[in-house]
Amino acid sequence: MLTRFAIIPLLLTLSFSACKKPATAANNNSAPNTTLAFSTAPGATATPAAAIPAATPVPAKPVIDQNAQVVIFGYHRFVNNVRRPDTEITPQAFEAQMQELKNKGIAVIPMQDFLAWRRGEKAIPAKSAVITFDDGWKSQHEVAWPILKKFNYPVTLFIYTEGIKPGHFSGGESMSWDQLAEMRDAGIDIQGHTATHQDLRRPYDKVAKKKLSPPEYEQWLENEVVGSKQTIEQKLGVKVNCFAVPYGFYNDHIKDVAMKAGYEALFTVYGQPITVRTPMNSVGRYLIEANKPKTFADAVSAIATTASGPVVAEVSASGLQTQPADGETIKNPLPLIRANISSLGTIDPGTTPEMRVSGLGKVDASFDPKTSMVAYQVTQRLKDKTCTVIVSAKSGGKKVETHWTFKIEDAGAGAAPPAATPKK
Ligand SMILES: [Zn+2]
Repeated sequence: MLTRFAIIPLLLTLSFSACKKPATAANNNSAPNTTLAFSTAPGATATPAAAIPAATPVPAKPVIDQNAQVVIFGYHRFVNNVRRPDTEITPQAFEAQMQELKNKGIAVIPMQDFLAWRRGEKAIPAKSAVITFDDGWKSQHEVAWPILKKFNYPVTLFIYTEGIKPGHFSGGESMSWDQLAEMRDAGIDIQGHTATHQDLRRPYDKVAKKKLSPPEYEQWLENEVVGSKQTIEQKLGVKVNCFAVPYGFYNDHIKDVAMKAGYEALFTVYGQPITVRTPMNSVGRYLIEANKPKTFADAVSAIATTASGPVVAEVSASGLQTQPADGETIKNPLPLIRANISSLGTIDPGTTPEMRVSGLGKVDASFDPKTSMVAYQVTQRLKDKTCTVIVSAKSGGKKVETHWTFKIEDAGAGAAPPAATPKK
């Protein structure tokens, strides 16, 4: 059951596309955007280790389809005469792509449904897609939005605040805050893409035209990552929980700053089908360019061949009690992991539930059919800050599965620190 799907990250095919607004002088080339996401576990109350079966029932999560996959598309401008094929596409080509998603049975879902799926809170179709538009171009509002309405497709906009009228880098081709408000009112998701759309690794302020000292850089980065989030939230009264990094450039420090700012996901340009296991701090998007029609075709065929439909039975879990509890932060890197899986149904005789632990893989868990308890004593320090446990079993001849996540304080302490220093 391990071989659910194989993913080959297209790490070598990073292509740099420009996303600039030629209407104004100041804006430089942008390569595709990158966004990192971080799953924020709901802050559940801690369950005392001994009290598992009885006390503190953990809110049940729906049993989600662990085999579902999501492809995320990124677009920039929609024009009749393509002059900059790295960021432009004709409305006809765009509409044909939207139609093809429909024809191929790929469901276009809201970004927030994708995030809820990753939190284990919401089921999504086995083959799903998310549409994103970058940089706040006016043609997104005027040309692409009417096309999306025909299909009733949702979209997420990644905007950089100084690129929105009357921002420093806005111009005749930019959307205004009023247009964004109109889209927001129609239910469109608006997310962060920095303030000034620069390579966040470079200590250089393009607005001030100035090289930045290390302390100045930190302050500038804070404004790009956190300040821009607050600007969007305050101007539009929305919650911003996704971050697309300009040009696809980032490092561990930028990820940390974004995580602390409360982003749930950071998106990159390495287009690939996203699974339930893809790290949320580097969620790949397929950047669609007029001169590379193969990118779209590749995405569609990748998900069509690898997402084979739900294999896991949908079970309305009435109450899954776990230790550590879902969302709990524990101190012990060697915890006893237990779950009462009675809510998954009667386990088929002769079968044994399986437990998988992130960072460890399949573990040798014990199962007591009388108490419905699956348990495993961790013997090898858990190194990641976040630990996901997946328990699967057979019930009524079908595979049933559930999962939860907890955090470990000071995980990996004593190990060599990761090289997280930003490039200077
Ligand atoms: Zn951009």
